[in-house]
Amino acid sequence: MMQADKVMIGLEIHCQLTALRSKLFCPCPADYRGKEPNVNVCPICLGMPGTLPLLNRKAVEYAVMLALALNCRIASRITFYRKNYFYPDLPKNFQITQYNAYEQASVGADGYMELDDPKGNGVSKVIRIRRLQLEEDPGRLVYDGSIDTSNYALVDYNRAGVALVEIVTEPDFNAPNEVRLFLNRLASILEHLNICNPALDGAVRCDANVSIRGHARVEIKNINSFKDVEKAITFEIARQRSLTARGIEVNSETRHWDDARRITVQARTKEEEEDYRYFPEPDIPSVILSSEDLEVIKASMPELPHARVERFVRAYALTRDTARILVGEKYLADLFEASLKYYDNARSIANWIVTDLKGYLDRYGDGSNGSNNSSSSSSSKSDSNDNSNVNTGILARITPKHIAELAVLVDSGKINRTVAKQIMQKMLSTGMLPSAIIQGMNVDMLSKKDELEGIVDRVMDEERKAVMDAISNEKILNYLLGKVMKYTNGRADPKLVLSMLKERIVDLRSSQ
Ligand SMILES: [Zn+2]
Repeated sequence: MMQADKVMIGLEIHCQLTALRSKLFCPCPADYRGKEPNVNVCPICLGMPGTLPLLNRKAVEYAVMLALALNCRIASRITFYRKNYFYPDLPKNFQITQYNAYEQASVGADGYMELDDPKGNGVSKVIRIRRLQLEEDPGRLVYDGSIDTSNYALVDYNRAGVALVEIVTEPDFNAPNEVRLFLNRLASILEHLNICNPALDGAVRCDANVSIRGHARVEIKNINSFKDVEKAITFEIARQRSLTARGIEVNSETRHWDDARRITVQARTKEEEEDYRYFPEPDIPSVILSSEDLEVIKASMPELPHARVERFVRAYALTRDTARILVGEKYLADLFEASLKYYDNARSIANWIVTDLKGYLDRYGDGSNGSNNSSSSSSSKSDSNDNSNVNTGILARITPKHIAELAVLVDSGKINRTVAKQIMQKMLSTGMLPSAIIQGMNVDMLSKKDELEGIVDRVMDEERKAVMDAISNEKILNYLLGKVMKYTNGRADPKLVLSMLKERIVDLRSSQ
């Protein structure tokens, strides 16, 4: 790629601390999903005159954990600022956030994340984290259809004051797929820290700065799902390239991702930083973090994805690739470790989860990070702080015991993999245990020669043309094997059948 054509992308990511029960500066419940409008509100989060914010201690702790996980320098004195702007979703007319100036500091700064090379074992890239800060979420504006055509705007303050962590990266990404790797890894970190469930609708939102070297920078706002970030950036790069190719200058502007039309569209003109008139929040004292405080927080941190991958490689002799796939989606890694309690064969269990279960979920599940599953999650699990990623029906139905039983049935030679895959389908759609599914089913693997002789003979007889071809071309044997598997409903031991077919072909060859 020509250097002049180099793409630079930076991200601003907002993560709600969904594990918190209350908002950032008041005791209102933080869980607003599926609630009636304007029920989780109080004078503080409605910005009534005379009220005082009260900082949620746990929110600071969670933000520090995330900053540590992203290798940030942690400020010893954490302070808050007012960012002033007028918008109906912001009842106080200012947002309490953080701002690095005058030796006042946000929670974390100068961190980095290493991206694994998707093809190899090393680190392919380091993305620098400029700053990590704690701030409050504004309320939500609700339109009748689209913002452009709606005759009214409704405002719901249930979300106003919910704790957010904002992560600002340096413009170190050069391609959309690097952004995807970064966000996947961030999602896994959030899940492992158990501070944010990225699968909840709107829990993780992303803005992206995109520019081609030597041209103006465009900011894309309102990308509400992890999955769309890569698409929005890909679109924006193509749009800018097509402009510059025609000699048209790229405007410095803010654009929105229109998720129905899959394009970015121009938004109102960009505010400059100065417009916000930041000034220190006088109602919240600075938080002083001593080195002892930091040690306590560090000691309370759960195992991080990177360490877990290394442990899986070391303790279970998995390949690093397999370990990464498991840890990449925390519920898979948890299922893996829990299944080992029933059947202590790590490679076999990992194989079923990574190849078969994940394959099935990718095809039929509702995806994971950033997908909208608010409809199913709001009522049943409202009193739980469990951040398990996907709560689809599929995963709710299967337990570690399901995986372990399936692996044992195959490894003990009772059933072959073809049958096991059928059982897996049934297990995932019904939640029945494999041992219960095979009861009454005629699925035991046919692994004795005398059980198979008749069927092999029948196939040899019916497929004379293929048999003659197989004498000169052994690849045809697979076709004959397929026939035998079909006649046995997938129950035959394929290795045995193949060797029986070979024997017969060798006999035919020598008798020619
Ligand atoms: Zn409140």
